[in-house]
Amino acid sequence: MNVIEARGLAKTYRSGKNEVHALQGVDLDVASGEMVAIMGSSGSGKSTLMNLLGCLDRPTSGTYRLDGEKVESLGRDALADVRNRKIGFVFQGFNLLPRTSALENVELPLLYDRTGRAGSTKDAARDALLRVGLGERMSHEPSELSGGQQQRVAIARALVTRPALILADEPTGNLDSHTGAEIVDLLVGLRADQNTTLIIATHDANVALRAPKVVQLVDGQIQ
Ligand code: ADP
Ligand code: MG
Repeated sequence: MNVIEARGLAKTYRSGKNEVHALQGVDLDVASGEMVAIMGSSGSGKSTLMNLLGCLDRPTSGTYRLDGEKVESLGRDALADVRNRKIGFVFQGFNLLPRTSALENVELPLLYDRTGRAGSTKDAARDALLRVGLGERMSHEPSELSGGQQQRVAIARALVTRPALILADEPTGNLDSHTGAEIVDLLVGLRADQNTTLIIATHDANVALRAPKVVQLVDGQIQ
């Protein structure tokens, strides 16, 4: 089954008289459990595409099915609901809550989860932190963790809800190359263990090469 079926996705940003055609007619299918890298230079439209796939924004035109649900026509609340249920995000800047422990950061998405999962949210958060190798750092706050450790917390937060899809936008962008490679190893391993569908946007060819499938974006179009 395809987790993602996008057809003719276009996004035009307008500010005053200016128009930026950030995406122009993108078609993309991603099968369940697949790992795909979206590769392209700065400004090629990677984040715009990730935002559409992640239901953070709506396309100017085109259609998008996520895990069988037609999402391009959903209203704001319904879109937020799909996002919470189906997607985990990893960002370049980690985006953790400051002055909040790793455990609480990872627990947070479960507190918004209204699907009534069984079990303790603390146990699930602990389990996710163990899976990213941070068992010894659960009570540390982001400022007490290295960049690589912060990104591990962010990855644990992304997978704690067991989403259909994990989207990582330049997950190694704020890390040195060695730490970045470790983070990519972790994502590749988690994908293999849990059969999570994973999409990584990157401008780094070394990162993209780790994905079995690479989609090249140039000026908002897939090559
Ligand atoms: P990438 O992530 O590959 O660097 P982006 O998707 O961020 O590319 O940007 C694609 C194009 O859209 C760029 O020309 C960028 O300047 C423009 N753009 C991105 N976001 C906005 C926005 N909110 N308003 C106007 N233009 C934008
Ligand atoms: Mg970007």
